[in-house]
Amino acid sequence: MELNVLVLPGDGIGPEVTREAIRVLERVAAKWGHALRLSEGLLGGAAIRETGGPFPEETQALALKSDATLLGAVGLSEYDDLPPSERPEKGLLGLRKALDVYANLRPVYCYESLIEASPLKNNIVRGTDILIVRELTGGLYFGQPRGIDGSGNGETAVNSMVYKRSEIERVCRMAFELATKRRGMLTSVDKANVLENSQLWRRVVTELASEYPEVELAHMLVDNCAMQLLLHPASFDVVVTENLFGDILSDEASVLAGSIGMLASASIGNRLPNGVWRGLYEPVHGSAPDIAGRSMANPLAAIGSVGAMLHYSFGLSEEASAIESAVSKVLKSGNVTADLHPTGQPASTQAVGDAICAAIG
Ligand code: NAD
Repeated sequence: MELNVLVLPGDGIGPEVTREAIRVLERVAAKWGHALRLSEGLLGGAAIRETGGPFPEETQALALKSDATLLGAVGLSEYDDLPPSERPEKGLLGLRKALDVYANLRPVYCYESLIEASPLKNNIVRGTDILIVRELTGGLYFGQPRGIDGSGNGETAVNSMVYKRSEIERVCRMAFELATKRRGMLTSVDKANVLENSQLWRRVVTELASEYPEVELAHMLVDNCAMQLLLHPASFDVVVTENLFGDILSDEASVLAGSIGMLASASIGNRLPNGVWRGLYEPVHGSAPDIAGRSMANPLAAIGSVGAMLHYSFGLSEEASAIESAVSKVLKSGNVTADLHPTGQPASTQAVGDAICAAIG
């Protein structure tokens, strides 16, 4: 199969973890005989430095030409004082919008060999296997009007949480479909006791439920969900929620997996004319400036994102499973980075990449 993949290493640890993920992708392509066509582009702080903006037109054109995009992370502290519209993170929001990847899939899985890496008690995290489906192209991050206006005591900031019925429906439909392929449970998370936005969300999800009688639907308020994720994580299967709630809950859920360096994500949009699902694949973590350039970053979230790319965009389940098995094997061997609290000397980012490639064979 021909795999046209755009790579956007980004900032901080982005290039470090992406390098290992690409080596794994090359290994898989060589072993299974796929033609890998890689291109590379600029996004985030790296793009601001080179072009003056976080999301150059050339990057957008490359992304629209590719079947799938692999992103490292964006964010540089030197740009922290810029307004949101000029910051590196704006590049990422622009990319998601341009690709119309509206459903962000974030699996949270607790490997038995990592059970001690979570600060939560073993009996709580054991058996955790959650798929968080976060709406990605609407809500507070994109809603208009937005901005800061006025001065003195009257200075006012506005952000708008806006959702159309069609935007809620398409992401929730995807969540129902995914639940039918898993344990058949879907928790829709909202704040319907306070927000009209959530009331519409709840109404639309409830209407859709009649089309999926095999899925058991539950509604949960976001504040309660934040608590239940830490009290009874193993009771969740698929969780669907709007953009901001999903952003926060999935970072919280990373504690269940042992480290944010373990969490991969897939952002899926529409099917391309060649039958491939257009997708953007990226670790959940950010650019981690505190550890950048020290070869300490855990590359497994980026490597897991390559596995998700093979599975969702290209339908290559055998190859994706080979990556999952390799990750499981390497975790058992204890050859892991410092964030996973290894008993011996922590492995470097590159050593973990080497071990995954070796395990794939
Ligand atoms: P972060 O995810 O970068 O880091 C949070 C903590 O987790 C840090 O202690 C970091 O060292 C650790 N960590 C993160 N990834 C790790 C990995 N692979 N291996 C080991 N440890 C890891 O979040 P932050 O510090 O809040 O943000 C830093 C920058 O990243 C900011 O500019 C922020 O805007 C940006 N950011 C970008 C994205 C993205 O590109 N998708 C997501 C979140 C934050």
